[in-house]
Formats: sequence, structure tokens, C-alpha cells
Amino acid sequence: MVNAQLLEETRGEVTSLLRDLIRIDTTNPPGNEIEAAKYLAKTLEKEGFLCELLESKPGRGNIITRIRGRGEKPSLLLLSHLDVVAANPKEWNMNPFAGTVKDGFVYGRGALDMKSMTVVEVMVMKLLKRQHVELKGDMILAATADEEKGGEKGAGWLARNCPEKIWADYVINEGGGLAVPVNGKNMYTVQTAEKGILWFKVKAKGTPGHGSIPRAADNAIVRMNNVVRKLETYRSKIYLIPTVKQFLTEMAKEYKAATKTLTKLLEDPAAADPALDALAKKDRVLAEEIRAKLRMTVTPTMIHGGVKENIIPSECEAVFDCRVLPGQTTADAMDKIKSLLKKVGLEKLEFEIIQANEPSESPFDTVLYRNIVTALRKIEPDCVVAPDMLTGGTDSRFLRKLGAVCYGFQPMRSDMPYGEIKSGIHGVDERISIDNLVFGTSVLYTVVERFMT
Ligand SMILES: [Zn+2]
Repeated sequence: MVNAQLLEETRGEVTSLLRDLIRIDTTNPPGNEIEAAKYLAKTLEKEGFLCELLESKPGRGNIITRIRGRGEKPSLLLLSHLDVVAANPKEWNMNPFAGTVKDGFVYGRGALDMKSMTVVEVMVMKLLKRQHVELKGDMILAATADEEKGGEKGAGWLARNCPEKIWADYVINEGGGLAVPVNGKNMYTVQTAEKGILWFKVKAKGTPGHGSIPRAADNAIVRMNNVVRKLETYRSKIYLIPTVKQFLTEMAKEYKAATKTLTKLLEDPAAADPALDALAKKDRVLAEEIRAKLRMTVTPTMIHGGVKENIIPSECEAVFDCRVLPGQTTADAMDKIKSLLKKVGLEKLEFEIIQANEPSESPFDTVLYRNIVTALRKIEPDCVVAPDMLTGGTDSRFLRKLGAVCYGFQPMRSDMPYGEIKSGIHGVDERISIDNLVFGTSVLYTVVERFMT
């Protein structure tokens, strides 16, 4: 295990690595991650790492490096993305790209999502090398471009064009690891599954006419209204996938206010809705998060129709964000959606798929998962660890497709209100405590050392 003094020594190093990375603006679009990749290459090469910089397009940089093991144990990839979402400086209390340190926190776009994890992973690689740890399996580090826009120019591109460079039996990435305080204990999640994404556009057709004689025309907005209502009120069948079942089991044990509801739900998943309606009165966010983990969802997110006050529109377009569970496919979801809209009139509707990514799930009955639990309990004996499914997506899907077991695990304590951490991601005044950078390094190092030696 990495000793306390060594960790204290890394405090300054992880802080300045993160400040430097935040100062390299990798807002996607356009991304321009190559500058961040070059910066990492420089700091890693100083310590003897051989780094490879790969550009999917000019400026869209990915960096890969590795420590060779003896080939006696599975390999492990530490994955992160270098790009960030836009930040509006007017909304922030400080410059989002200055890497300001204040009251023990590093502020800036990417402080949580996810330059901090990049730094933690880089630090772990450096520590392994400095300590001359003999690894039984290969350790790979990859920091990639374009995750915030779907990853096609980053992890997706690497998986398609040079899978051998990032292939590993196991992967640690973003998507979990944040402690949720439950009854005075910390519950850490490990992301073992994520929903699939199906973004699609529906174009409703009609015939134009004068707004003063509504029945003489065929109003596309009215047709779209029926489409939206049909899809928005659709409650698809409930499936309890292994990850969610285990998550709810752990939650039921610890979160006393929800124990009754969750126990009932686990016994009879089909009757989840009335139970969750009751829970929503006490804790709406939790109830709705759970509901979204149980089924495919369809949400209207954009709508546009009409050209003038007095013209009945012949066209109306809407975009829907559909998320499907592991075990389902986006093609099945599209079929289901079309069948729901039969009565609205399929001949007057056009469909266009904007983006489709399949869902994915990794088993949690693995040595790496158990090592994560052990490492956390060593530091915090009474903590709870549970696998979790993200309703959103990460780059892990590309690696799961290659056959790797992927876990989202960015270990963090909630040392500011949980809601503020959640809203900091893609929000304003995004920040992470320096304590959390050190904590993350400590946990990840412990996990890796146990797993690879
Ligand atoms: Zn991210």
C-alpha cells in the first residue's frame, strides 16, 4: 500500500497537474485535445514513460502509454477523456479556465468531469514506476478526445482503428465512485452498466391552410402533439437487470426511509410504479432515478413547427431522447416506438435516427470488483459499495464492445453537498477538493497494486 507520507508528497503534484490541465482549454467542440495530450506526454516522458500521441483528426489528440507486466495476470486500462463541455464565464464566479485554487478546492471546467480523474490515473502510473512495482499484467493509460460529443473521434476511433493499443481485460473509467451519504455511512457506487442511447427525430406531415378555418387543413402541430403525448405517457415493461437488482438490494439495507418501498419493489418489480409514486412524495429525485433504471424511457427534448401566425403548418419536427436497458437493442426500441404511433398515422410521419449507441453491462462478480470493495473498506471500514447503472452514457461502451470488463470508478468523498457535486458537472463553479484528489489517488493506487501484483 502506498504510505501516507508518499501520498502527502503527491498533494502538491496532483494539484498542479490539475491546474495545468484545466488551463488548457479543451472545450468540445472543437476539442483541440492535442494540447492536453502533449502536456501529459511531457510530464510522463520526464519519468521514463514512452507515450504515443494519436490524432483522429488534426487537433483531436489521444494519448496512450503503458507499463509492461509479466503477462501472468489480466491487463488493466485506466481510461479518461480530455475534452470538456463549454463553460460560460459570465455565469461563473471565477474564470473557468484559470485553475483557481481557493479554500482547498481546485476550480475550473473539467475539475470533476473528468480532468481530475485523468490526473489521478496519471499519478497512479507515475507512483507505480517510481516505486518500481513489478506488475504481473500490463497497465495501460489512455486519455482520449471527444467523449462529450459521443467519443467517435476519441475512444470510439481508437477502438475501431487500433484496438490492440487500448485493449485490456479490465477498464477503469468515469461514471461511478462518488460517495452518497446514506444514514451516516458512505455508499460508493461502481458503474457496471449503462443504458443505450437512441436519439431520433420525427417529422409530422400535414397540409397547409388558413388559420381561421382549422378543419379545412391538416395541422402538423396537432399531429405532433399526439406523437408527443403517446410517447411521453408510454410506460414500457420493467426489467430488473443484475446491476440494478444489486444496487437496490444494497440501497434497501442502508436507506431506511426507502427500505419498505425498495423491498416491495424487489419482490414484485412489475408493481414498482405505485411503490415509487409513494416514495416520490418523500424523495422525488431518488424515486425518479430508480424509475429510470427499471425501464426504457422516451423523452421529447426539441420541437419546431410553423412559419406564421395565420398559416396552419404542414410540417412539425420533434427530437426524442430514448434510453434503453442492457438486454434491449436500439433497433427493438425504434420498432416499439413506431408500433406505438400506428394510430397517429405512420404514413404521415417520417423517422430519422440521429445517434444510436447500444447499452452495455459488465459482471460485478470479478476479482477487480472485490479489490475495489476491499480497498474502500480498508480506508473506510463501514462504507457500503454497490454496482450501479448510469442512465447516461460513457466511453466504457466502446471497450465493453471489445469484450473488456469496464467499471466507472472515480473514488470521491462527498465533502460538499451531494447536489452541488452533481450540479457542478457540466454546471457552474465546477470544483474538486484537493483532499479528494489525494483520496482518489490513494484508493485507485491501492486497488491497482492489489490487482496487478
Ligand atoms: Zn465525462
